[in-house]
Amino acid sequence: MDFTSLLSSFIPSWASVCLLLGFFNYLGIAGSILPGKLVPGAILADGTRLHYRCNGLLSLLLLVGLLVIGGWMDFVSLTAISDRGLELLSTTFIFSVIVTLILYMAGCKSNDRSASLKPHISGNIIDDWWFGIQLNPNFLGVDLKFFFVRAGMMGWLLINLSVLAKSIQVANLSQSMILYQLFCVIYIMDYFFYEEYMTSTWDIIAERLGFMLVFGDLVWIPFTFSIQGWWLLSNKVDLPTAAVVANCCVFVIGYLVFRGANKQKHDFKRNPKALIWGQPPKVIGGKLLVSGYWGIARHCNYLGDLLLALSFSLPCGISSPVPYFYPIYLLILLIWRERRDEARCAEKYKDVWAEYRRAVPWRILPYVY
Ligand code: NDP
Repeated sequence: MDFTSLLSSFIPSWASVCLLLGFFNYLGIAGSILPGKLVPGAILADGTRLHYRCNGLLSLLLLVGLLVIGGWMDFVSLTAISDRGLELLSTTFIFSVIVTLILYMAGCKSNDRSASLKPHISGNIIDDWWFGIQLNPNFLGVDLKFFFVRAGMMGWLLINLSVLAKSIQVANLSQSMILYQLFCVIYIMDYFFYEEYMTSTWDIIAERLGFMLVFGDLVWIPFTFSIQGWWLLSNKVDLPTAAVVANCCVFVIGYLVFRGANKQKHDFKRNPKALIWGQPPKVIGGKLLVSGYWGIARHCNYLGDLLLALSFSLPCGISSPVPYFYPIYLLILLIWRERRDEARCAEKYKDVWAEYRRAVPWRILPYVY
């Protein structure tokens, strides 16, 4: 592909605009009407409490079901996304810029003084647009922050499935593609199965909704996390059986550590007496868990996530660094995030954190880091 045709494939068409808006409309409607557990969110400074309807899994399954039936009946093209990957990327990017400019302007004009909607304006327009000025803006009753996170994770799966459909269409479905798709499906379905855990994350509770978050959710997650699938469409890999087995082991261990660690902390926060691996939990200062994964390293959940990320790339073999974009990015991100979280916890828990550090000296990987 020459440079001019590469550039022209980024130009948004009406078809890509319709695809994107159709997806958002579906998500808005499905998220509002489908049944789902109503999870209470953070209590805000003004005493009000946010609530999130966790029906992401049902919304996703229904959408995939509708698309498969539509594809089977020739109403929709299952390869529409993979045929228009680059223009969908630029359309989504432009959408993120426009929507965050609107959020900025609407936030500035808002007279709402509630903690959730009170504008935090620094006066630096770029800063305010980038980080956002409102904590939980909504549109027609839809919490936009929760909506965009959901859209990003579902978008990743839809891109993957369309790439899978493309590889079937061009008859190059490989063992590597099946492994990559399988691991991602499990990871994303698991994410939506435990969607309520998302409601207590830092992004949802504390970050304002600006370009950084919207771009991260809508562009970065779906379009960069799916690089392996795109790469496998045009590259052939022969994996020996031992490599397939090793790859599956990395995935399973990563999953157990990632989900196990996050679940142990989640359960502990809700019930500090909840058993960990069948034993009463060991706790420091009444606040910090030292049992289970949290007694092995202070961020074992990051280790699990990194192993999972690696397992998504290993099906591509080692001939190119391109499919390793996601694990490399995640390694840098999580090391940086761990440092920031460490500083926050040291500040918040003071001596209790120092005691925890002595009891659990490893940050992410025991005996290495
Ligand atoms: P964590 O889930 O690790 O939460 C850190 C917080 O947990 C701390 O600030 C503290 O908060 C509490 N805490 C820390 N240690 C203990 C302990 N021993 N006992 C009890 N509470 C403790 O942080 P993240 O939100 O960063 O990560 C959540 C998941 O999301 C991880 O699995 C991570 O890998 C994943 N992630 C994935 C990304 C991706 O791009 N794929 C990006 C970022 C995260 P408190 O003040 O409440 O006690």
